[in-house]
Amino acid sequence: MELMELTALELGTAIKKGRVSVKEAAQAALDRIAAQSSALNAFITVTGERALDRADKLQAGVKDAESPLYGVPMALKDNICTRGVRTTCASKILGEFTPPYSAAVVDKLAGAGAISLGKLNMDEFAMGSTSETSCFGPVKNPWDPERVPGGSSGGAAAAVAAGLGWYAVGSDTGGSIRQPAAFCGVTGIKPTYGTVSRYGLIAYASSFDQIGPICRDAADCAAVLDALQGKDPRDGTSLEGQYGRLLDRLTGDVRGLKIGLPADCYGDGLDPEVRAAVLAAADTLKSRGAQVTELPFPVMEYVVPAYYIIAAAQASSNLSRFDGVKYGRRADEYGGLDDLYRKTRTQGFGPEVKRRILLGTFVLSAGYYDAYYIKALQARAVIKSGFDRAFEQCDLLLTPTAPAAPPRLGTSLDNPLQMYLGDVYTVSVNLAGLPGLSMPCGFDSQGLPIGAQLIGPHFGEEMLLNAAHAFQLDTDFHRQRPKDSICRDAQRVPARLETLDHRPGAQCAPQREGGGPA
Ligand code: GLN
Repeated sequence: MELMELTALELGTAIKKGRVSVKEAAQAALDRIAAQSSALNAFITVTGERALDRADKLQAGVKDAESPLYGVPMALKDNICTRGVRTTCASKILGEFTPPYSAAVVDKLAGAGAISLGKLNMDEFAMGSTSETSCFGPVKNPWDPERVPGGSSGGAAAAVAAGLGWYAVGSDTGGSIRQPAAFCGVTGIKPTYGTVSRYGLIAYASSFDQIGPICRDAADCAAVLDALQGKDPRDGTSLEGQYGRLLDRLTGDVRGLKIGLPADCYGDGLDPEVRAAVLAAADTLKSRGAQVTELPFPVMEYVVPAYYIIAAAQASSNLSRFDGVKYGRRADEYGGLDDLYRKTRTQGFGPEVKRRILLGTFVLSAGYYDAYYIKALQARAVIKSGFDRAFEQCDLLLTPTAPAAPPRLGTSLDNPLQMYLGDVYTVSVNLAGLPGLSMPCGFDSQGLPIGAQLIGPHFGEEMLLNAAHAFQLDTDFHRQRPKDSICRDAQRVPARLETLDHRPGAQCAPQREGGGPA
């Protein structure tokens, strides 16, 4: 049995039945990480010894385990705090930060018998769509190492696609779970805002940020989400709700489900191959009994500007805590408090983060607040009501996840506006706090994966996962894997760090426990 071919749930079953030991699974993942991860640059920190220790402890409990994911190795995006393991946000300013506590989701996963293999590379502070803004250098797409894996959870999506662990947990502020899932040919879901605790997630834009799973298929996503979701008193935006087991409700029955195709998501700017693949996905769902209809969705022109204004405003406020006093890095030499702040932040943040802080400070400043920030909040309300109207006519919406194939490494950073426009299909979902899922729905003529996005009403996770599961019963796009030889060969593709990293000072260095490079 090739362990890496299994889904997380299949591995969980094999462990439960005693066909595979927890340690064998962990060791198999660590061996692959050792062989491939530095080429893909998917991990920032690998915690191999911890993982193997934990595997030993978990083995004793296999018989009594209730979680279907018990003993299944996984990894966490590096903006999710882990007690005793450094958590960098892929930023120099937190390069050596080791949190004294774990995020709520980390404790929940531990309770479900998860084993963490380490921390995954990402865009700095989750700001970006290509995973190139990391101070650890860019992540490469396992399907084509000359391409980006998407962002900001690019390490997570690349790791799952390349079989460096069975699932990953990422975060999504404006598409960072769904878009990398699409670019790497895996399945990812951003849950309804407030259903997964943000306690211990390093904040980017608090009114959008949500944690969620990136997996091989929808069933795995359901199982991981079952472990993650629930009310948490430590997060003031966490919602009470009926959090039943999603996994038990995956019937694959979509008869009578009304799926809307928002006409404004299929217009200019959409790559024809992506359009064809997503419309073919609609046909597949139709053949299983869903009703597919087109509907107007006349709010798309507002989504990118509204998102980037609000996200930057919240980022500028959230990131003010990184001042060299309380967390992480402090400038070595400074003359007084103002100079300490200035030098620490100048040296610690990369160019994209600085751009967001400047933009956010600008839109919040007196004189511009009404013209930009308030306007963006008004646009957000209009977008929300656009979704309300759409969900009067249908149960789910189907759109592309991204308008085109993953760009080549190094081509996006000099054109941030172009990169922001690539988020057009995902950010609206965060503006409205809705759940959204990306599933693989085909490959383009260059062999690159294409993702389709399903959007549901608040608490519509069950419908989303069930529709994706139904689709995956009839298709095998989610079962395709990039070739190992391509992943290993990623080493030959230069990371072009000298052009990607405009920052002063040394590179951040990926880490293995004990000090060696990851
Ligand atoms: N690409 C978007 C941004 O840069 C979304 C990032 C995310 O979801 N974290 O803000």
